[in-house]
Amino acid sequence: MPSAPPAPVVTRFAPSPTGRLHVGNVRTALLNWLTARKLGGRFLLRLDDTDVARSTEQFAQAIREDLAWLGMVPDGEVRQSDRFDRYAEVLETLAASGHVYPAYETPEELELKRKVLLARGLPPVYDRAALALTAADRARLEAEGRRPHWRFRLSPDLPHRWDDLVRGPSHIDPASLSDPVIRRADGSWLYMLPSVIDDIDMGVTHVLRGEDHVTNTGIQLQMFAALGHPAPAFGHAPLLTGAEGKLSKRLGAIGVAEFRAAGIEPLAVRALLARLGTSLPVEPVTSDAPLIAGFDLAHLGRAHPRFDEAELAALNARILHALPHAAVSGRVALSEAEWLAIRGNITTLAEAADWKAVIDGPVAAPPQAEERSYLAEAARLLETLEMGPETWGALTSALAARTGRKGRSLFLPLRLALTGRTSGPDMAALLPLIGKARALERLRAA
Ligand code: GLU
Repeated sequence: MPSAPPAPVVTRFAPSPTGRLHVGNVRTALLNWLTARKLGGRFLLRLDDTDVARSTEQFAQAIREDLAWLGMVPDGEVRQSDRFDRYAEVLETLAASGHVYPAYETPEELELKRKVLLARGLPPVYDRAALALTAADRARLEAEGRRPHWRFRLSPDLPHRWDDLVRGPSHIDPASLSDPVIRRADGSWLYMLPSVIDDIDMGVTHVLRGEDHVTNTGIQLQMFAALGHPAPAFGHAPLLTGAEGKLSKRLGAIGVAEFRAAGIEPLAVRALLARLGTSLPVEPVTSDAPLIAGFDLAHLGRAHPRFDEAELAALNARILHALPHAAVSGRVALSEAEWLAIRGNITTLAEAADWKAVIDGPVAAPPQAEERSYLAEAARLLETLEMGPETWGALTSALAARTGRKGRSLFLPLRLALTGRTSGPDMAALLPLIGKARALERLRAA
């Protein structure tokens, strides 16, 4: 019998819409996006909005907009708040099979239990007292007005080992953990079980997230098994650190808004975050193709990669220096020749407009009274020359021969008069773009 075709790859990025995405979230999204692109799969956005009090539509919309700006548009979207009925239905089946159980302790009672265990030097693991309740006990508690919260029953007999796509063989010890609360007494859901139900219903094949979720994975593996469903593959990336160390507040405040304000290209963000903490070099790529082709979660190391805004800015400049005109033509009003002449001199795309203004003029060149006759000589020579890529070389050689000038004194007055600046793009490329008429005007105006 032919074996079933492998399930199509589905990844998901699952932020809570309780704030803006920060660079750590962006990297998690990127790992999922790259995996989907590399394996020909789908990349889904799941809004983890079980916390209805803190989740807002504004943040959900900001997440969509940030992903769009980053060039990682999801192939579909799921919202947990649309699915509460489904979670309740699954909870019932898990209750029937004994994988979840109601518990009635108040937060104060639980806190007291924790304190007693800690005082005895024991790990503060929930004692499962609720498992011993009889139907009569529960009826009495409910008659007192108590509502149950629900816990998932961890078990050494359920799977708790997995081969992590980043970390290799991994496991948790179910006996060392409290049975997680999955639904609160007020009926609200905690993240853990809904995520598993969604991953099943969305057909998720790869769960890629930060290493702060490693223990959750062990627990969620047990939930997949309890639901009789094979678990997806899991990969946990080491968390980014800021330039000043691990728990960087600053890092949590850097996101798409900050990238945009700094003139960073989305491609630069992808290029840096795709390679940060991997065995492959950070390179000034001009498209996603090499990032996708070279992507492999196994390249991620175990160390915490350092995210450095200065490195991103430098990469941004190097990418711009290599980008073909077609990659920017929709965003800057420069011809291909203009773009090729100036791209090596910008660090953000916005600066391209400054060079366009230098080409088109008028330029505000500082007066160069003492150079007036030299520049007049340059104008006379230029008048006799055909304008083309050789013109700058011809003009400056002729000027050198006539005046005996060389180096700075030969070039700088010309550059200053022609561009209003002391440095900038190669004049051989720039001069034909400025054109003869404007060049003569600028030389004579000095
Ligand atoms: N909402 C969770 C988080 O942002 C999702 C974790 C997961 O990927 O399952 O941490």
